[in-house]
Amino acid sequence: MRYVKDLAQLVEDRKEATLRISDQVWEYAESRFQEFKSAAAESEYMKEMGFKVTMGIGGEETAFVAEYGEGKPVIALLGEYDALSGLSQEADIPELKPIVPGKDGHGCGHNLLGAASMAAAVALKDYMVQQNLPGTVRYYGCPAEENAGGKAFLVREGCFNDCDIALTWHPGWTNGVTQSGSLANFRVFYTFHGLSSHAAGAPHLGRSALDAVECMNVMVNYLREHMIDEARIHYAVINTGGTAPNVVQSEAQVLYAIRAPKVTQVKELFERVSNCAKGAALGTGTTVDIEQVSAYSDYISTDVIAERLQQHMEAMLPIGYTEEEMEYAKKFQEVITDLDRKNLQGMAKKVGGKNAKEILDKPLWDFMTYPQGGSKGSTDVGDVSWVVPTGQFGAVTWAAGTPGHAWQVVAQGKSPVAHKGTLFAAKVLAATAYDFLTDPELVKKARENWLEILDGETYPGALPPDAKPHIW
Ligand SMILES: [Zn+2]
Repeated sequence: MRYVKDLAQLVEDRKEATLRISDQVWEYAESRFQEFKSAAAESEYMKEMGFKVTMGIGGEETAFVAEYGEGKPVIALLGEYDALSGLSQEADIPELKPIVPGKDGHGCGHNLLGAASMAAAVALKDYMVQQNLPGTVRYYGCPAEENAGGKAFLVREGCFNDCDIALTWHPGWTNGVTQSGSLANFRVFYTFHGLSSHAAGAPHLGRSALDAVECMNVMVNYLREHMIDEARIHYAVINTGGTAPNVVQSEAQVLYAIRAPKVTQVKELFERVSNCAKGAALGTGTTVDIEQVSAYSDYISTDVIAERLQQHMEAMLPIGYTEEEMEYAKKFQEVITDLDRKNLQGMAKKVGGKNAKEILDKPLWDFMTYPQGGSKGSTDVGDVSWVVPTGQFGAVTWAAGTPGHAWQVVAQGKSPVAHKGTLFAAKVLAATAYDFLTDPELVKKARENWLEILDGETYPGALPPDAKPHIW
C-alpha cells in the first residue's frame, strides 16, 4: 500500500534526529517526574517540526502535548522517557558496569519508546502536509510511567478527553500486539512513627518504627496465602530508621506495590494491607501514616485497533537484522542467568511449538509472536485505555531472553539493534495512525468495539483526588 511505504520513507528521512534524541534521553536517564532534560529535548524537536507544544499538562511539569492540525479525529501517540532507579550501565558492554554506581538508567527502554511515538507523529504530520489531510495528530510526552503512573494523573485531569484513538508500543524481545491483562496496581507509602531511646540503656522507653515495618511485612506475607492467585504484593523498605542498632528507630518507611487484575480487587487488598499496617502500629505502640501515591488501571485492548496493528506488523516484518547485529545480541544472550534461560526456553516452546529449537537458535526474534499475552506487570497506558480506545504492541529492540528492568536492557538501549526496532515501531504506529485519521467509519467501529468490551463499566481511576505527582 502506497501510504504505508510513503510513511515509512518519511520515518527514514528523519531517522538521524529520532535516534539522536533517543540516545540523548538514554544519556539523561532521568526518573519519575524529573525528566526535565528529556522532555525539553523532545518538545523542542516537536516545535521545530511545526507542532504546537503545551508544557506541563495535567499538573505534571515534565509532561507535554505536541499537536498538529485541527478538528476530528484526534489521534494520540503516547510516548515515555523516564528511567529506572539505580540501573546506571555503560552501553554495549555485556557485563555489569555502571557509569555512575547508584545512578539511574533506562532499564525499560523508554528512551526508545518516546522516540518512536514522536517519530510516528512527525511522519504523519509530514504526510498530512503533503496530502493536505484534515484531522489532528498529537504526541503526548508522558512522564513517570515507572513507579508513579504519570498517565493516571493526565487522565484524571482530562488531558485525553477529546482523543478518538490512542496508540503506543513498548520495546522488548518479541514482536506482537498487546492483549488485555496487565495488572492494576497501587503504590502506597506506610510511614511509622515511634519513640527513640537508648537501645540498651532504656529500651523500655522506646517504641521502634522499624519493628512496626517488620511486623507489617510479616503479616502481609501471611496474607498472601489468602488472596487471589493473580494478585501480586511487593515492598521496598525505603527508610530503616538509621544505621545505628543501639538507637531505637523512631521513624521507618516501607513502600508497597499492590497488584491484581482489576482495580476493585486492588482496592480490597489495599484495605487488607493497610489493616496489617494498623495492626503492626497498635502492637508496637507506634503510629502509621498511609499515603497512596499512584494507581494504575488494567489495560483494555480494543480488537479493531489491535487487528490493524497486527496487519501492519505482519506486512512490515522482518525488521531485518544484519549478521553483525545478531552477533551483538548473542553476546547479551550469553550473560543471562540460568533462570532467564529457562524462561526463554519456555517462551520458545509457547510461541514456536515444534519449531522451538529453531527459534532458540535465533538471538533476535525477528518474527511475529501470537498472542502477546498481557504482562503481569502494570502500565499506566491502562488508564488511557479506559477513556480512549487504545492499541499497543511490543517490538524487538534487544536480544531474546533479556530480563526486563535490568542492566542488560540499559546496555543495549542505544545499539543498532535497538535503533532498528525503534524505527520499525515508528512505521507501524504511523501507518496505523493514518488508517484512523483518514477513515471515520473505522474510528466509529473502534469506538463501538471498545464500548462493547467495557460492557457498561467506566474508568475505575483510583487516584485519591488530592494525590499529586510525587517525587521520592
Ligand atoms: Zn516500560
